[in-house]
Amino acid sequence: MKGGCLCGAVRYEASVEPKFSGFCHCRDCQRATGTGHCCYMIFSRGEVVFTGGLRAFSMTGGSGMETVRYACEICSSQIFGSGPPEDDRWTVYAGTLDEPSFFKPDTAVMIRCRSDWDHVIGDFAKFDGMPGEKGD
Ligand SMILES: [Zn+2]
Ligand SMILES: [Zn+2]
Repeated sequence: MKGGCLCGAVRYEASVEPKFSGFCHCRDCQRATGTGHCCYMIFSRGEVVFTGGLRAFSMTGGSGMETVRYACEICSSQIFGSGPPEDDRWTVYAGTLDEPSFFKPDTAVMIRCRSDWDHVIGDFAKFDGMPGEKGD
């Protein structure tokens, strides 16, 4: 898998399949992407190698955990996401793939924040909140 930002300054690659792939409909992802949901692929941090300068934006997510989003420092494309440094998960946003068909989403999370105009099409496992959260 290879990909990069809009201007080409940030490039990444990974040689393994993502552990999880899906849509997140939370308000933070809506605001960060300017769309109805983000398209996430979750790897381990060390599995994704990248070059180019990133600007990090950190805030407390809905889960109460630190959430960091990383964008190209030149063109501002949002490319990666993570939790705090001790959290091994490393998110790659699928819209940045060179070959978009690599993304095979099977899960939609935070459906309770989904807007009516943002349809989930396909055979997805749907979660009102996050998987494992109370009520799911
Ligand atoms: Zn860029
Ligand atoms: Zn989200």
